[in-house]
Amino acid sequence: MIDVSELFGSMVFNERVMRERLAKDVFKALQKTIRTGKPISSDVADEVATAMKDWAIEKGATHYTHWFQPMTGVTAEKHDSFIQPVDGGAVIMKFSGKQLIKGEPDASSFPSGGLRSTFEARGYTAWDPTSYAFVKDSVLYIPTAFISYSGQVLDKKTPLLRSMDALSKAAKRVLKLFGKTPDSVTPSVGPEQEYFLIPRELYKKRPDLIITGRTLFGAKPPKGQELDDHYFGSIKTRVLRYMEDLDTELWKLGVNAKTRHNEVAPAQHELAPIYSTVNIATDHNQLTMAIMKQVAEKHDLVCLLHEKPFAGVNGSGKHNNWSISTGDGENLLEPGKDLKNNLQFMVFLTAVIKAVDEHQDLLRLSVASAGNDHRLGANEAPPAIISMFLGDEITDLLETLASGKEYSNRVGNRLSTGVQSVPEIYEDTTDRNRTSPFAFTGNKFEFRSLGSALNIACPNIMINAAVADVLNGFADELEKAKPAEFKAAALALIKREYIAHKRIVFNGDNYSDAWVEEAKSRGLLNLKSTPEALSYYDLPKNVELFDRLKIYTDEEVHARKDILLENYCKVINIEAGTMSELVLKQILPAAVKFSTMLADNITKLTALHAEATMQTQMLTTVCELIQNAYAAVQRLADAQAAVKAAVGLQAEADISYAQVVAVMQELREYCDRLETITPKDLWPFPSYSDLLLYI
Ligand code: ADP
Ligand code: MG
Repeated sequence: MIDVSELFGSMVFNERVMRERLAKDVFKALQKTIRTGKPISSDVADEVATAMKDWAIEKGATHYTHWFQPMTGVTAEKHDSFIQPVDGGAVIMKFSGKQLIKGEPDASSFPSGGLRSTFEARGYTAWDPTSYAFVKDSVLYIPTAFISYSGQVLDKKTPLLRSMDALSKAAKRVLKLFGKTPDSVTPSVGPEQEYFLIPRELYKKRPDLIITGRTLFGAKPPKGQELDDHYFGSIKTRVLRYMEDLDTELWKLGVNAKTRHNEVAPAQHELAPIYSTVNIATDHNQLTMAIMKQVAEKHDLVCLLHEKPFAGVNGSGKHNNWSISTGDGENLLEPGKDLKNNLQFMVFLTAVIKAVDEHQDLLRLSVASAGNDHRLGANEAPPAIISMFLGDEITDLLETLASGKEYSNRVGNRLSTGVQSVPEIYEDTTDRNRTSPFAFTGNKFEFRSLGSALNIACPNIMINAAVADVLNGFADELEKAKPAEFKAAALALIKREYIAHKRIVFNGDNYSDAWVEEAKSRGLLNLKSTPEALSYYDLPKNVELFDRLKIYTDEEVHARKDILLENYCKVINIEAGTMSELVLKQILPAAVKFSTMLADNITKLTALHAEATMQTQMLTTVCELIQNAYAAVQRLADAQAAVKAAVGLQAEADISYAQVVAVMQELREYCDRLETITPKDLWPFPSYSDLLLYI
């Protein structure tokens, strides 16, 4: 039996370790930096660095790394050992405050969206003291932000920290009107992470999975998820051993892994942590994804984090549970027992409603990726239309306010289980709505459109920014009201803004066709593809928003858009290339072999005047599919050439979607039909059943 409380955070340079190992004044100075973001002096940095190094060496570390989150979407690290030569050919282990605070990786090979040409390759990593350092694989990891020589952001962490700062300032202005002056207000996030586990030996036989992270082919298995027998089902022993190991590794690193269960699709699972401050939640989610893959190796499994590894069964998402709290622990999205009189809650809630409506485009594009395009709107994840679920009680209250009538609180209905020994439970203020992209779930919003592989920084930057901007507007207005008029002014604001933005509220079934129509008549955006969504990134209203809040400069917004467009084109191009190669070199040869088998058989049977009608029909089908697939491969190459010939990244991305993705889908259909009729021993790849059903 492991002692979890002993194990938890044992590899983390956390507050407890700091208190133990740092002089009192150094500890205090560092805590102040962590809480308020005040810069740290070089003396303090030196002392922290030495203590950190000594601690890390005790934990087996030989190297340190500045760990950062460039625009690639994955984390980056370069290891440096602690050694420093001294006289006599020996070394000592050394780590200075300067090395802790600042690193200088060559930035030229990370995407910058044209912000930095290769001859100005310099980029800096700067220590983020708000996220704890930790030891993993004998390396001391120091979470950092990554910026260019001239101060432009090259990563996801810096703008996230800036957006948190903007939100904190704005929320504090509003709270002041309610007579509250907390030190800080921070967004907290709990990201629920979905993943697939498949046997490693089969993975190795699927070049599509290895190269692109998803299967580009694969006929639907006879048994998929239709029996709903996997969701919350009992966990198979091999998977359970994996989950136990995963929890242990995450706990050591201070990640609050809390919930584990089977998900809807076969071989699909979920891990949810306890929520934390969003920058820490972001670091921890990146770490969780890395550890998920690493631990899988030990179990001869592979962990797939792609948003849609298998067609025909659900893909994987990541629910981003978001709320805002004061430093004193007050959750500003907690309606409390007396909802009707909770004016402060209503102001913050209205701010979120307005923010989501005004910046639907930013929320949508923050989750856009080639992989996630397969999920959104496919009846397994929210549609591409952003809307909000508030539940009946809160919607009723807002509607009543809007119509100027009195509101009487609904009493939480008692739910009876009908079993005496089971305690009575009360209905939540909101029921669950599993189809909404942005659902209020009692004291937080759950943004459900994220794909499983996404770095959660971007969607949270958007939410923080949108809400901060609205709160600033509210504060501008309400600060003008005299104290005696404050309540009336706040109510008038809520009423006005709710009426102006209630089109974004939808409590019904987001998967239905009727909603698509209704949303259109409400004037909501429906940005179906990644290129379409990204085209909104640099709209003047967005550039102005980021500029006002000092999150991105104009140049940085354009750079981000370009990086994402380019990434989209590259992903599609790699998938198309992989597909063509596998069709030409593996699938068509297998199908040709099968056609030869059939032809031989027909010739022999005919010579004996035996019946060969069925074989002839099969042969006709196989030959037809071979012709169609081959022709589609050629059209795929034409589409790729059209992308190359296009001018500008937006045009390249648009053509990638309209032509390359479309032909890929068609080509896949021919190949999947071939798979269903070709003998198993001739087919070059393990089937969906092999991959999904036999762990
Ligand atoms: P589900 O959506 O599957 O029902 P839960 O309701 O158990 O899941 O919670 C999902 C996630 O929401 C967890 O990671 C949890 O820590 C997080 N969460 C709970 N309260 C908050 C909050 N106030 N702010 C942010 N996240 C929260
Ligand atoms: Mg959830």
